[in-house]
Amino acid sequence: MTGTGPLEAPLERTVGRRTAQALAPLGIVTAHDLLRHYPRRYAEPGRMTDLRDLTVGEHVALMARVRQATVRQMRSRGGALLEAVVTDGERDLTLTFFARRPGVLRTHEDRLRPGRVAMFTGTVGTYRGRLQLTHPDYQVVGQDADDEAAALVEASRPIPVYRASAALPTWRISRAVRTVLDTLGPDDLPDPLPEQVRRDRGLVGLIEALSGVHAPYTDADWQAAQHRLRFEEAFVLQVALARRRAAVAELDAVARPPVPGGLLDTFDASLPFRLTPGQVDVGREIAQDLARPHPMQRLLQGEVGSGKTLVALRAMLQVVDAGGQAALLAPTEVLAAQHARSLRRLLGTLADDGFLTAAEAATRVALLTGSAGAGARREALADAAGGRAGIVVGTHALLGPQVQFADLGLVVVDEQHRFGVEQRDSLRRPDGTRPHLLVMTATPIPRTVAMTVFGDLETSVLRDLPPGRSPITTHVVPADNQAWTARMWQRVREEVDAGHRAYVVCPRIAPDDTPEEDDAGTPVEEEPPGPGTRPSRAVVEVADELQDHPALAGVEVGVLHGRLAPADKDRVMAQFAAGEVQVLVATTVVEVGVDVPEATVMVVLDADRFGLSQLHQLRGRVGRGAAPGLCLLVSGAVDGTDARSRVEAIAGTTDGFELAAVDLDLRREGDVLGVAQSGATSSLRLLRVARDGKVIAEARRDARAVIEQDRELTGHPELRRAIAAVLDPGREEFLERA
Ligand code: ADP
Ligand code: MG
Repeated sequence: MTGTGPLEAPLERTVGRRTAQALAPLGIVTAHDLLRHYPRRYAEPGRMTDLRDLTVGEHVALMARVRQATVRQMRSRGGALLEAVVTDGERDLTLTFFARRPGVLRTHEDRLRPGRVAMFTGTVGTYRGRLQLTHPDYQVVGQDADDEAAALVEASRPIPVYRASAALPTWRISRAVRTVLDTLGPDDLPDPLPEQVRRDRGLVGLIEALSGVHAPYTDADWQAAQHRLRFEEAFVLQVALARRRAAVAELDAVARPPVPGGLLDTFDASLPFRLTPGQVDVGREIAQDLARPHPMQRLLQGEVGSGKTLVALRAMLQVVDAGGQAALLAPTEVLAAQHARSLRRLLGTLADDGFLTAAEAATRVALLTGSAGAGARREALADAAGGRAGIVVGTHALLGPQVQFADLGLVVVDEQHRFGVEQRDSLRRPDGTRPHLLVMTATPIPRTVAMTVFGDLETSVLRDLPPGRSPITTHVVPADNQAWTARMWQRVREEVDAGHRAYVVCPRIAPDDTPEEDDAGTPVEEEPPGPGTRPSRAVVEVADELQDHPALAGVEVGVLHGRLAPADKDRVMAQFAAGEVQVLVATTVVEVGVDVPEATVMVVLDADRFGLSQLHQLRGRVGRGAAPGLCLLVSGAVDGTDARSRVEAIAGTTDGFELAAVDLDLRREGDVLGVAQSGATSSLRLLRVARDGKVIAEARRDARAVIEQDRELTGHPELRRAIAAVLDPGREEFLERA
């Protein structure tokens, strides 16, 4: 926030220098910062802390009742000592205060009268074998009250407990907040929530919310306050997203309406199967988007194998028919090469431009990767720049300055939902218009996350799989059960003998390695191993073992990981696809998109070290052909641990959206929102995406309504300011431009 109102004034003036200095390390500098430093929880005033749970050396904040407090002169050292005994009702704890003279101690004695309840903080120590606190900080419940009646009320109020520091106990924060609140009137605290929204949703006003959250009289007070503040967080974010969405919708793009009798029509007529109903619906949405003179911004979600690539290809053909080009971005070079192969296969003679076999209106699919030879690369670059290639496939390098397009009309981003806002903004053509954008992901994104993180995109979902898919069976194999693991390799052998292939996935490349990173530099989401667990299995080591494994005698074992030269990766993938290699030991480079229909077995070693969505993705690599798939998750995790439940959740269902919901429950918020790469989500203090789906949905509805009426938010200056405060500079600039 900017401005010079009382909210921005340095705290020193209101709370004093000592407190202001103690608050600074917590990042609290202005009154605004302090008011938005919400309590972490509320202590019940009558509830004593169980003194059994104290540990020596621990810094504690505990509630206890005073039993006695007496000052006495110390003969030996000539000072004075106040010894107080406090209790939780069953156990006692001694508090000691020393002073040169008894006078100072009288004040403590007076405050710590028997029967009073107080919160004490200090470090637990021992004296003659008994636990004690020396010079604890404390706050007597109801101490600030003017009279007996007021003290009773005070003593029954919920006690806010803040994230505090040893230098600054929670009640000093509490007192500072109250001091600040006392100095502010409604005019100093303009509400970012529009009056109408507040009334319709029955939410308390800002000043009431801040008092309720910091200085509640009842539980209902802080609950109503939290609800309103949570809504505010969701709402401000949703308004920012709605504004962005509206702004992008107004940017210019070249309209690419369908051309009857073009490549797309020819392609559709030649398809050996029927589109699924989902493919038809989503295809229609996309066709309409592309026909508009504004950039499409669409997220397409669909399980592995749901036919997203086909949907993308049809969109690309519509653009090619309309005279434009399409770029398909894959997360890795392996996937880019595979995409180019399968697009060419799907297109057949439609992709033969320049060859005698070509169909009349044929185009070209160019593959542009760093590993291609200089000659091939030059040719692909020329095809892209000259417009001969209607479709150019590559990694994100395609968006770099070295690659020129004659007329880039559509960018398709595959398996890369991390494609962030900044990257989206960077898509600009030389003439200032934007290409259309289709982002595809097979990682199911729970609705609330989609709304929060991708709220500025339109979303489509392919729910149904094409018919004739083979079922996948999943089993958990205990790592220490020799009989099971022996049987597992036996099963792999049987599949190979039946003409099938197997993946064996490990968490790392070599022993002593950190977990593998994929080509896009995304680290494997390895879960931290529990105490005393052995290091996870490594590709090179496992490949060696399998080479010599009696069950796999005569079977060709290949390895694939991110550290191989690109040409070697391509070679081993091609060998695996062709059946020259039957068992592929790999890291998660096979996680996304790799498509070998003959692969029927997926063995994941140390499965508990992978994230849920990764395991789901890995499993999706099998069961893509006519034969049923088998997924074996090897885990040494003990029954009942989180690690084990993750693995069992995967074995329990093949529904990606269900798993995504489980995942969201098991994970910390930051991890979930980490995918956003946006400053906006770090502004969430009370809102929890896993829990507050309803609030988010309501806020989104209201936000859209507000933006529809007042795009520039001219009637809502406070809301405008709140948005600016949650967005990082880059995004703020975007909003200013809009
Ligand atoms: P995704 O990219 O969503 O993982 P793909 O587009 O790779 O899925 O499709 C998986 C396989 O299913 C491909 O071999 C594709 O040709 C085939 N396929 C796609 N749509 C259909 C359909 N409607 N009917 C039958 N097979 C289909
Ligand atoms: Mg795909």
